[in-house]
Amino acid sequence: MNTPAELSHNPSHFSGHDHQKCVSEALSTAAQLCKVRGVQLTPIRHQVLELIWDSHKAVKAYDLLDRIRPQQNAAKPATIYRALDFLIEQGLIHRVESLNAFVGCNCSWHQHELLLLICNDCQEVEERSAPKVMQALSREIEQADFKVHSKAIEILGKCSKCAETMGD
Ligand SMILES: [Zn+2]
Ligand SMILES: [Zn+2]
Ligand SMILES: [Zn+2]
Repeated sequence: MNTPAELSHNPSHFSGHDHQKCVSEALSTAAQLCKVRGVQLTPIRHQVLELIWDSHKAVKAYDLLDRIRPQQNAAKPATIYRALDFLIEQGLIHRVESLNAFVGCNCSWHQHELLLLICNDCQEVEERSAPKVMQALSREIEQADFKVHSKAIEILGKCSKCAETMGD
């Protein structure tokens, strides 16, 4: 964590990067995007987003609730879920179906397809755009004459950092 490293355009892992930069970029993007779209980034929505951006790990709704409660006694699960729905709708976070959890998105300006690399050990999620994979997938789906509502590919495995720690 002490070695400074540039966050490359397509980081293969997150170790040693300046995460504070990720957080401040994500929060300022959220503020701009909500302003442009004329939607409200209310304090609770902002707080939930900030908590999700605490790391690149996928976060479960009840963990968010646990962390918000000390600050906001009145926070109810429904409040959190409404905030999460809003953040998903605005593309500020993604739902990670296979973990039933949420992760921040750093490319929220455009709706996009998802390739998520999910580490089973540390729950870190890396989002990649993988345009070639997505094009191939689209062709396959067209041939099946199938109407797509949402397209996300979730790959479970072990990130390079965890693989290193295990010594394999
Ligand atoms: Zn980061
Ligand atoms: Zn995204
Ligand atoms: Zn990992």
